[in-house]
Amino acid sequence: MSLRARLTLAYSAVLAGVLLVFGAALYLILSFSLIIQIDQTLARSAEEILRTSRVTTQRDLRILTLPSLQFASSNVYVQVWNAEGALIASSSNMGAFEQPLDALSLQEPTQQFRDVRVGEVHLRVLTVPVVLASEPSGFLQLAAPMAVVDRARESLLIFLAVGGALALLIAAGLGSWTARRALRPLDTITETALQITRADDLSRRITLEAPPASEVGRLIRAFNETLERLEALFTSQRRFLADVSHELRTPLTAIRGNVDLIRRMGADPESLEAIQSEADRLIRLVGDLLLLAQAETGNLPLARAPVEVDTVLLEVFQQGRVLAQERVEVVLGDLDQALVMGDRDRLKQLFLNLVANAIQYTPHHGRVTLGMKLVGEWVHVSVADTGPGIPADELPHVFERFYRVDKSRRRPSLGGAGLGLSIAYWITRNHGGRIEAASETGKGSTFSVWLPLASSKAGND
Ligand code: ADP
Repeated sequence: MSLRARLTLAYSAVLAGVLLVFGAALYLILSFSLIIQIDQTLARSAEEILRTSRVTTQRDLRILTLPSLQFASSNVYVQVWNAEGALIASSSNMGAFEQPLDALSLQEPTQQFRDVRVGEVHLRVLTVPVVLASEPSGFLQLAAPMAVVDRARESLLIFLAVGGALALLIAAGLGSWTARRALRPLDTITETALQITRADDLSRRITLEAPPASEVGRLIRAFNETLERLEALFTSQRRFLADVSHELRTPLTAIRGNVDLIRRMGADPESLEAIQSEADRLIRLVGDLLLLAQAETGNLPLARAPVEVDTVLLEVFQQGRVLAQERVEVVLGDLDQALVMGDRDRLKQLFLNLVANAIQYTPHHGRVTLGMKLVGEWVHVSVADTGPGIPADELPHVFERFYRVDKSRRRPSLGGAGLGLSIAYWITRNHGGRIEAASETGKGSTFSVWLPLASSKAGND
């Protein structure tokens, strides 16, 4: 069953329930109040008759003299029965009717009201025992027709049934219309979602106008945001594939070219050297990709041991000096003593990536400064250079996979696929730290790594 049908049914069921309860209450209240009025009339009449009766005593006999019962036009019928069950008197409007109005009540010496049918006529009957000198001496029976009550009840029932049915019909129609209106945006959203699936086009958005705070407005916003995120993911996935294929193809092409050369000209040390270096590059690239994939899925196996950051940085400094040769000056700034919990090899790789980048992008006679300071609970490692810097609009992207500021730059022998900073970013993240880049074009760049200091307890053991 559709949501619309269910909503309509629910509305109608609730309304039907409410109508039923109110209808029943109305019916009962009306019946009771009308019957009470009739009962009061009967009781008053009985009281009047008994009050105006006279009792006379002749020796042992007590004689009851009734008032005149000749109210032919009245709506009240009266019968007087003696203790032996014989009819003594009746009102003139009863004509020749001599049956008891309510035979059952004549058996019991108590005053009672009962509904009785005499032939086609529905009557309300009051039976009052007559007691003379504390001896039961007969019954006074008064009756009034219930026709008015019956008619009123019947009209009310008809009104309730017809009115209720009409109200239900209108409510169901209105409910269905409102539900359709309220749910129409869902149809549009479903249709758009289907179109996106059919056309495989994640750039589409739902353009439905809806108040932003409404449920539908929020749904549309959430849906569009999901689409945006999916689109970004797919785009980066595609770019990643393209980048990977490109990066893999270049060294493979070089290897094949050199193999061709060897086949034609025979092995020469230069071709073998080139093959070796391209193969090394491929191995490095694949290794970096694997590392990134593990880091991004949170599966990077990391040791957790106390690492003396200052010692690691000294090693990195030595390697940097070898790497820079005479081209760039590598200097050591402040070097506090610090322990962090983590993976020594990965941390060294992180710092080496930064220092290698700085050396690589800094022109002749530039300077690369490596330093480390303790700032509160943090270890702050900085790698500053006097290179060309990174334009401000590129700066936020340098940690993305395969991102290169100068896209046309010829690939240098060291790294160069645009993965170094992504790896640095993930190693820092997986150590509970953060990495930042600051740069001024023409003046140089500074990369800062913040790592949480190992607690003194961890440092002691
Ligand atoms: P690559 O392997 O190309 O060096 P990275 O991920 O290490 O890739 O760096 C991404 C890009 O950021 C580099 O291509 C380069 O354009 C820029 N970059 C990184 N470090 C520096 C630096 N110290 N000075 C200037 N540009 C830098």
